[in-house]
Amino acid sequence: MATSAPDIASGRLAAEDYVRNFADIHPPLDRHQALVEADRCYFCYDAPCVKACPTSIDIPLFIRQILTDNPFGSAETILEQNILGGMCARVCPTETLCEEACVREEAEGKPVKIGLLQRFATDYLLAEGEGQPFERAPATGKRVAVIGGGPAGLSAAHRLALHGHDVVIFDAREKAGGLNEYGIAAYKAPDDFAQAEVDFVLSIGGITVEHGKALGRDVSLAELKTSFDAVFLGMGLAGVNALGLPGEDLPGAEDAVDYIAELRQASDLSALPVGARVVVVGGGMTAIDVAVQSKRLGAEEVTLVYRRDREKMGASLYEQELAATNGVVIRTNAKPASLLVEDGRVAGIAFETTAEQDGRLVGTGETFTLPADMVFKAIGQAFVPAALNGSGEAIALDRGKIRVDEERRTSLPGVWAGGDCAATGEDLTVAAVADGRIAAESIHRALIAG
Ligand SMILES: Cc1cc2nc3c(=O)[nH]c(=O)nc-3n(C[C@H](O)[C@H](O)[C@H](O)COP(=O)(O)OP(=O)(O)OC[C@H]3O[C@@H](n4cnc5c(N)ncnc54)[C@H](O)[C@@H]3O)c2cc1C
Ligand code: SF4
Repeated sequence: MATSAPDIASGRLAAEDYVRNFADIHPPLDRHQALVEADRCYFCYDAPCVKACPTSIDIPLFIRQILTDNPFGSAETILEQNILGGMCARVCPTETLCEEACVREEAEGKPVKIGLLQRFATDYLLAEGEGQPFERAPATGKRVAVIGGGPAGLSAAHRLALHGHDVVIFDAREKAGGLNEYGIAAYKAPDDFAQAEVDFVLSIGGITVEHGKALGRDVSLAELKTSFDAVFLGMGLAGVNALGLPGEDLPGAEDAVDYIAELRQASDLSALPVGARVVVVGGGMTAIDVAVQSKRLGAEEVTLVYRRDREKMGASLYEQELAATNGVVIRTNAKPASLLVEDGRVAGIAFETTAEQDGRLVGTGETFTLPADMVFKAIGQAFVPAALNGSGEAIALDRGKIRVDEERRTSLPGVWAGGDCAATGEDLTVAAVADGRIAAESIHRALIAG
């Protein structure tokens, strides 16, 4: 065996370490803490936090409802705009959205904790077990097919069901929830919260989920267009960007999104193998998540390498700090040059340092090598248009994703799209929820007009 043989093993930590490392990263506020925090809000007129929220939740109103001891009403205010308000309270990068815009952030660098307050209210409603605060409109007899049961699809399905339409969600996977179930870092949504929220969304009624049914494999868009009154595409991004280096398909070179999905579905985290030395290539949320989770699984050295400088990283400052406090070393201004292969598997990765010249990234010729038992590729995901084969006529794309207008209509009549697969905005849970709701309202208008 080579001296640098891979050291990939499970059970690196004691049982209680796994429990502690993957527990809720932001423990919820209790009632007293929530009242104290709500009291910090100025209830601004024309509130900047609302403008910064992709789902335009009436933040001052829901905070006032908490303050007046009406958490149920507060949750209703949130869910009216964002039916996945519970998950968004856990995973939204609030530090770059509502909390960044909060006037208290501007004035004293300490925003109102909007995310935690949102969680307080939505958790209250779910814990009360009273189910839906909303009631369906009388049945319209219209049927809508939704492709993908992720945040975009669930949000669209709920709003359509609310308007009295019948919805069938087709999802390629065995569980609904999309990346809420298979992607979000485990410590952001523990205790099977993703499935509890899916159950809550579906409890509106009028929504059927067909699991294990993929567009392009089991159903075609042309078929759906004839058997349904409208179609919403919310299938996310099925592809991952490659490093483009020889050896990246060998053992030891791992796709970060696949590994995280495995981690999220593992019933016993101590049984999940992780390298002693891990290198992550990328600078976004996925890169941070796989780096932090590797460390929390017991990896000894985790290095994240990003090709540009820190300001250009997709991950927010808060996430970069989270990585640092978890012992992840972040190295910037270096791009992958080659993979080191030993005995048919990846044993390390060489980088070339980079510099910006007239806005362009160029290699400096200087290199360094990091030995690794696992190299994670986390340089972005891509839309795979093959699922649209059989549409009859081609759907127009924009920068590799489905082109949509402001109502989320595609170039094909009767077909809408939203979430990560559509060329709208940032790839965030909250943005996908917003797209689903906007598309559903547009579909509803079209169906009642027709
Ligand atoms: C590792 C990782 C961590 C992330 N962390 C955060 C975070 O902390 N905060 C945040 O705001 N965002 C985060 N994101 C981004 C966020 O998860 C996505 O923006 C969001 O899930 C997009 O929702 P969606 O419904 O468009 O797609 P998805 O969540 O990807 O859901 C798509 C659904 O479509 C199904 N599907 C795919 N192809 C087909 C097909 N052909 N036929 C039928 N069904 C199909 C899939 O099974 C899936 O259920 C993260 C992303 C990743 C990859
Ligand atoms: S900006 Fe801050 S203080 Fe103003 S309404 Fe929003 S949360 Fe309250």
